[in-house]
Amino acid sequence: MNATIAMTRAATLKPKPRDSDLTFGVVFTDHMVAIPYQEGQGWGETRIEPYGPFSLDPAAAVLHYAQTVFDGLKAFRGQDGVIRLFRPQQHIERLRRSATRLCMPALDADRVMDALLSLLEIEQEWVPSEPGTALYIRPVIIATEPFLGVRPARSYLFYIILSPVGSYYPGELEPLRILVSDRYVRAVDGGVGDAKTGGNYAASLLAAEEAHAAGYAQVLWLDGVQRRYLDEVGTMNIMLRIGDEIVTPPLGGTILPGITRDAALTLLREWGLRVSERPIAIDEVFAAAESGQLREVWGTGTAAVVSPVGELAYRDARITVNDGRIGDVTQRLYDTITAIQYARVPDTHGWMTPIDV
Ligand SMILES: *Cc1c(COP(=O)(O)O)cnc(C)c1O
Repeated sequence: MNATIAMTRAATLKPKPRDSDLTFGVVFTDHMVAIPYQEGQGWGETRIEPYGPFSLDPAAAVLHYAQTVFDGLKAFRGQDGVIRLFRPQQHIERLRRSATRLCMPALDADRVMDALLSLLEIEQEWVPSEPGTALYIRPVIIATEPFLGVRPARSYLFYIILSPVGSYYPGELEPLRILVSDRYVRAVDGGVGDAKTGGNYAASLLAAEEAHAAGYAQVLWLDGVQRRYLDEVGTMNIMLRIGDEIVTPPLGGTILPGITRDAALTLLREWGLRVSERPIAIDEVFAAAESGQLREVWGTGTAAVVSPVGELAYRDARITVNDGRIGDVTQRLYDTITAIQYARVPDTHGWMTPIDV
């Protein structure tokens, strides 16, 4: 245990749910990490304390102007019993980039990693072991200064909470029905679409609610200027297999740089597939479907790894992808990434960080 971490243990421990009862994001572990920041003093001491509500001034900037960022990653219990994190350095780097975009002070990456490892050490029994389960890790930074003016806050709280989660797909991977929105947009060029910040998700709710009401699982977002180019699907990056090419929208503007996206692109290139990061117009997708060239569509993200898309609806048109079945490349990506995560195959990319306990 790191000497610079102040630890207060929970007086009583919660009962742990059975692996088979786990869903997503409803159960939290016994402890959390908290590090306060005060302008002029910098980041304070790392504390590990009992999980629970904290008090926040009603004027805290985060509650008014959404100065907040987060990330999401997972720890897996491998088939050998060892707990491993998937690409934690990349997640911490992304959190730091998101913080910079939201005018928040940068946290030292090593400090975050130390805090996370210490928390996992005392919460290791919370890492479930059934296939498909994991311990979801949610680091967050919020602006805590009580001040109603619009400017970057002078005090913050960084914290990490943990939640054991079930398999996203208890059975087979289930292809999603997706509504392409030509009314709402998720992000605009020059905005905060490439940062994991709360406002993006609040802004997405109405489109998702309308899609659900119409019988769709998620929204496919188009670009904010022409409502023409594919952006993301729900809270996932999108990939398509058109003919022999795998295509995905390029980073550098409105797209959240997914770490699963990066892993998928690395594997696809290793498999010798032709991969292009380029703008994809929705008309191109419909034309490819028309000519029989649209073979697979899927989303990538930490929660589900990959999610096959079985149907796309856009204005009055509707297409079925691969007869509503999961495609070969989608399945292979899911199988390969999960095999690496659960240590069923060697980790040749250095993606897994074992927890030393
Ligand atoms: C988190 C997120 C993703 C996926 O990123 P991963 O690092 O693969 O989990 C994609 N799009 C949005 C909008 C996200 O918030």
